[in-house]
Amino acid sequence: LCVTSQDFDFFYFVQQWPASYCDTRRSCCYPTTGKPDEDFSIHGLWPNYKDGKWPQNCDRESSLDESEFSDLISTMEKNWPSLACPSSDGLKFWSHEWLKHGTCSALNQHAYFQTALDFKTKSNLLQNLNNAGIKPRNGDYYGVESIKKAIEKGVGHTPFIECNVDSQGNHQLYQVYLCVDSSASKFIDCPIFPHGGKCGSKIEFPSFSTNDDHDEF
Ligand code: 5GP
Ligand code: 5GP
Repeated sequence: LCVTSQDFDFFYFVQQWPASYCDTRRSCCYPTTGKPDEDFSIHGLWPNYKDGKWPQNCDRESSLDESEFSDLISTMEKNWPSLACPSSDGLKFWSHEWLKHGTCSALNQHAYFQTALDFKTKSNLLQNLNNAGIKPRNGDYYGVESIKKAIEKGVGHTPFIECNVDSQGNHQLYQVYLCVDSSASKFIDCPIFPHGGKCGSKIEFPSFSTNDDHDEF
């Protein structure tokens, strides 16, 4: 008997701050489709267990099929760009996320990508931070607690904030983790937070524009 229930407890929905990704990797490459907006972008939607472990690569036979989500591609180029080098159109990144995490989600490719896009819109991170006066600007530092509060106020649930360290040793806002129920219908309180990427009490929220010295074109 094959029961198609999800063999995991919840999802992490992970968004990255592009300017920090560029500092983390020392170099980044703008997508072939153009410089990304100064906005959070999607990293992935990751099935997870309550004990902190997670399933991955659940279907070794699967492969990305663009024809299944061709209607989403322009929206994905905008909201789910790949900043890795060399420059790409995103397909390799989306394929990686689908194969590693999506195949464990009990969603098909279209639903997996659509769901992630919908949760990005719902989370409205940049606007929620803006509403609390938290804006990307190099040299300005914000309390991690105030960042969490601003997101919690808009989303209704406390995020996990992951930091990276830039080349000058400053902690900066790198990724925001929110949790989603296993049927991918709503944000929930996180059953467990990830461990890595701890922040100091004050962190930088860097602006893209002046990070050009880190970028390779
Ligand atoms: P890193 O070591 O950079 O934190 O994570 C590397 C990769 O491992 C991530 O891109 C993601 O695919 C996976 N990963 C890391 N932490 C978690 C986690 O807590 N849950 C899940 N589902 N995947 C994770
Ligand atoms: P993870 O296993 O951490 O979910 O996936 C990260 C993988 O996707 C890495 O191999 C990384 O090089 C690639 N990748 C491509 N573009 C991006 C990007 O914009 N952000 C992140 N975090 N990884 C990317």
